[in-house]
Amino acid sequence: MRDAERHDDQELEAGRLLFSRPCTFMLGAAQLSQLPDSDLPEVCFAGRSNVGKSSLINALTGTQSLARTSNTPGRTQELNFFNLAERILICDLPGYGYAQAPKERVKRWTMLVKDYLRGRPNLRRVLLLIDSRHGVKDNDHEIMDMLDEAAVNFQVILTKMDKLKVSEAETIIGKTQTALAKHVAAHPEILTTSSEKGLGLAEVRAAVTSLALPLS
Ligand code: GDP
Repeated sequence: MRDAERHDDQELEAGRLLFSRPCTFMLGAAQLSQLPDSDLPEVCFAGRSNVGKSSLINALTGTQSLARTSNTPGRTQELNFFNLAERILICDLPGYGYAQAPKERVKRWTMLVKDYLRGRPNLRRVLLLIDSRHGVKDNDHEIMDMLDEAAVNFQVILTKMDKLKVSEAETIIGKTQTALAKHVAAHPEILTTSSEKGLGLAEVRAAVTSLALPLS
């Protein structure tokens, strides 16, 4: 076995182990003052409404209802925090780009998220979900610009890959790579997932685990 392959296997195994530990809901923060005070490293999941964010978080952690869908009333504008085995915090950002969102709500989202991105020294990476059927939209570019500005590293996860044929998958991966080339904060590796079929979950777990405190 080549060294790189062995290295990958170790990362996948570390991811499997960490995500077999308990992941617990901490709190929902509607304003900056409510963010959890913690020294743990943090990752954040972001994406347009309906991108499949709750499904992915639930699939990763092996729970049915840890993350609620962005359509759940009341939870929509909150940043939800989860603690994964005291090794890393996971933040679930409210979905953006909802077609009927009133301007005031969009403004509030943007302010809250900008403040969050600037004010979290332990934020290691944003995992930015893109629906593989739709590709990178204008409001995805806007958040990528915000991440560039805040110098927060981000990595794209293409979701719902089970909906695409192999040739379509190759095309969207290529187009996404081209879009990312314009963003200085972009991680070069694109992850691909299907929560429905369980594809790519091990790789996302490994990516999160590479940013977490080691299991002792
Ligand atoms: P959120 O608004 O980003 O939290 O999105 P949800 O997780 O609630 O998913 C939105 C819709 O997409 C739901 O109808 C899900 O069943 C569907 N969905 C989510 N993930 C997948 C997937 O991997 N494959 C397919 N085919 N559908 C998915």
